[in-house]
Amino acid sequence: MISKWFNLSIETKLAELEEASLLRKIPSVDNGAEKELSFKGRKLLNLASNDYLGLACDDRLKSASIQAIRDYGTGAAASRLVTGNFKLYETLEQEFAQFKEQDEAMLFSSGYAANLAIIDSFADRQTVVFSDKLNHASILDGIKMSGAKHARYQHNDIEHLKKRLESFKDSLAKILITDTIFSMDGDLAHIEEIAQICKFYNVMLVVDEAHAEGVFGEGKGLCFERKVSALVDLHMGAFSKAFGSHGGMVSGNSDLISFLRNKGRSFVFSTALPPAVVGANLASLRLVSADPSMGERVLENSRDLKKFLESEGFDCGNSESQIVPVILGSNALALQAQAFLLEEGIYTAAIRPPTVPMNTARLRLSLRADLTKADIEKVKYAFVALRKEILS
Ligand code: PMP
Repeated sequence: MISKWFNLSIETKLAELEEASLLRKIPSVDNGAEKELSFKGRKLLNLASNDYLGLACDDRLKSASIQAIRDYGTGAAASRLVTGNFKLYETLEQEFAQFKEQDEAMLFSSGYAANLAIIDSFADRQTVVFSDKLNHASILDGIKMSGAKHARYQHNDIEHLKKRLESFKDSLAKILITDTIFSMDGDLAHIEEIAQICKFYNVMLVVDEAHAEGVFGEGKGLCFERKVSALVDLHMGAFSKAFGSHGGMVSGNSDLISFLRNKGRSFVFSTALPPAVVGANLASLRLVSADPSMGERVLENSRDLKKFLESEGFDCGNSESQIVPVILGSNALALQAQAFLLEEGIYTAAIRPPTVPMNTARLRLSLRADLTKADIEKVKYAFVALRKEILS
């Protein structure tokens, strides 16, 4: 039984979170994957999900999922290394590797699990891992898990990165890992420079393309678009964002993938993804490969909205992608703005510390390819009203 002291300390911590407007409550969304989600009986324009291409409710993905259940059942029933490795899973990995122009690809139960596995497999106490300060939490957790030395560099600061590399230049085992699109800011890593620097300093380069795949580089990610794909050692991505489904995917050369298959604990010791998910992943991959222009549509919507918001005086940071933050500062203001937009028929995510640094609480808008001109106008109108009502 929890001791009285322990219980009191938990209550105090919860009260502190409440006081700082940081207590998370899971919103009860009736149906959240559509362009219009339904929340408390109301239809709201969904600018909060990562379904950038609007594929999560696509009938072609649904049919592929249902077919996979018919063919293989509802659960994989074992890890891939035991019996949970069906033909469908291998087809997905092979087609994904071809799509990314890599030797091999490997599916994980989530993007989170993929990052843990990559870092924990390739890094140990003798390794230095260079990591952007705003990298995703799964990367930080992977570094902690591996026991590697963590050389953090200031966000997107190449000069600082070079200094960090100089100070560890005699270390033999070095890995650099970076998001290519930063999830709460929507800005892009300076990947061309990073790739050249890694080559110069003999550093293994790992990229997290979770938010870039499906959108940038004909769906193949930012490294492909910027023509540095061949300089990257491991490409990590996720089916949970633009592909509208679920799971992490890592691709690279055969030796690296084979090592990961042997060492990645979140792969070895976890049941394979269910067939329904893998069926949808394959359908989604085929749709994205067949229409490389899908990502460009979402980027057009984002550029238009960001330009407008900035002209209205909002701070959208350095976003250059489908993720557009509206940085407001205080936690309370972010919550108030979110509530205001809900009344205007728009669902946005209020993002607060520790997800973002202190005093940079924000609304995170994630744009979708299926937004019409009228939808974008509705959002613009709501932000003009927000400025008048709450921020002036
Ligand atoms: N990397 C990045 C950059 C992410 O934003 C996320 C999820 N938000 C992940 C990894 C984890 O992916 P998943 O949600 O599929 O576990």
